Amino acid sequence: MYNRTQNDNGSFNTRCLDCFMTVASCVETTAELDRIEVHHICPEKALADLLAQEKAIEARSARN
Ligand SMILES: [Zn+2]
Repeated sequence: MYNRTQNDNGSFNTRCLDCFMTVASCVETTAELDRIEVHHICPEKALADLLAQEKAIEARSARN
């Protein structure tokens, strides 16, 4: 999820809503925003995935 804002000069900024990092600023087109957002490697999401994996492993071992 990204929060896009537009500057007075018409360019765009985009911020990741998971880690609140500004992923890009002063981008000219929304197509460029799309491209940049796809390439954002989110530390918060990576951490959440890792925790989810750990929980799944714990749940499995608790059953045995
Ligand atoms: Zn992020």
